[in-house]
Amino acid sequence: MSQPSLWEVWGDHSTSPDKVVLVTGGSGLVGKAIEHVLLAEEGRVNERWVFVSSKEADLSDLTAVQALFDKVKPTHVIHLAAMVGGLFKSLDNNLEFLRTNIIINDNVLQTSFERGVQKVVSCLSTCIFPDETPYPIDETMLHNGPPHSSYFGVAYAKRLVDIQNRAYNLKHGCKFTAIISTNVFGPHDNFVIHGGHMVPGLIHKAYLAKKNKTELIVWGSGLPRRQFIYSKDLAKIFIWALREYEDFEPIIATVGEDEEFSIRETANMIVKAMNFTGPVRFDTSKSDGQFKKTTSNARLLKHLPGFQFTPTQQGLQETCDWFNDNYELARK
Ligand code: NAP
Ligand code: GDP
Repeated sequence: MSQPSLWEVWGDHSTSPDKVVLVTGGSGLVGKAIEHVLLAEEGRVNERWVFVSSKEADLSDLTAVQALFDKVKPTHVIHLAAMVGGLFKSLDNNLEFLRTNIIINDNVLQTSFERGVQKVVSCLSTCIFPDETPYPIDETMLHNGPPHSSYFGVAYAKRLVDIQNRAYNLKHGCKFTAIISTNVFGPHDNFVIHGGHMVPGLIHKAYLAKKNKTELIVWGSGLPRRQFIYSKDLAKIFIWALREYEDFEPIIATVGEDEEFSIRETANMIVKAMNFTGPVRFDTSKSDGQFKKTTSNARLLKHLPGFQFTPTQQGLQETCDWFNDNYELARK
């Protein structure tokens, strides 16, 4: 989707905002959701939000990161940018996920420290938790054992963000923290079929199967289980953390344990939302990946009691409607 390399959302037209918030990865699924939620906010806050994509600065290049920070002069950072991909991209590229994300994250955190940024909220993923673990998984278990083998590259790179946040806090008192998100989906996702995540990939496959009157092929057995968060719900959690959360300990962002679905159930919800009536087949020659990574949202709800998550079927319907309406422009 056509997008400038840097764009702004002003809460107020004052020339001296209380906060200048830099959002790395602003052109992605989560970044666009944060922009959407801010634009829909009622009441004016004295904040200037600056969203950037990789076209503005390649964050794996330290000089480019420093130049970006000197240009934007952020007081706060939401750090979303990363090498991102689903199971099948990760299986083939653990080395690239490890190195690229270590470099990007170190560049962003060290430059934030050097430029006096007051708070950084980074985005981690629940695939970074130990594979062999009691359930539900909570934040205290992050470093208790190896992650699932399919994701070890991104998992170890992202675990290091938690270690860095702790180290910057102990050494310099920095308020650098992280939200650990479960699988996200929503408008503006990357709907690529090969290399992307399951929900946007299946939505795209269902679109093509409906158009071409073919079967819909779901990869794997359909038995693994996942929790999903709608991108607009995750966006609200990031905005809250940026404004109000003062600790460096990470927080898991997920729906409840009872909102976990099998891949088969999720595929059925997508079939319904896409109004696909053809045959559905499971290709068991493809990997299932991690069987489950059920996480607890108890710490999140302690801070945000009563937080209302969008029901998964409703979020999927809105996402499918967005994809159908924006097919030509969507990333795919
Ligand atoms: P996305 O839609 O693929 O967007 C990735 C963003 O990162 C884009 O804005 C991209 O810029 C930017 N980016 C990538 N490489 C960059 C680089 N070298 N320099 C500067 N910017 C770069 O990803 P997303 O799903 O929104 O993910 C955001 C965060 O959420 C990531 O940290 C990811 O690990 C985490 N997360 C995602 C999921 C999920 O299910 N999607 C689950 C848990 C956690 P361009 O648009 O210019 O390429
Ligand atoms: P994960 O949830 O982090 O493991 O990553 P994905 O979003 O890639 O989901 C992987 C799970 O969905 C595995 O169990 C796959 O077998 C299953 N799956 C079914 N169909 C697809 C598809 O079209 N794309 C992807 N990426 N995974 C699929």
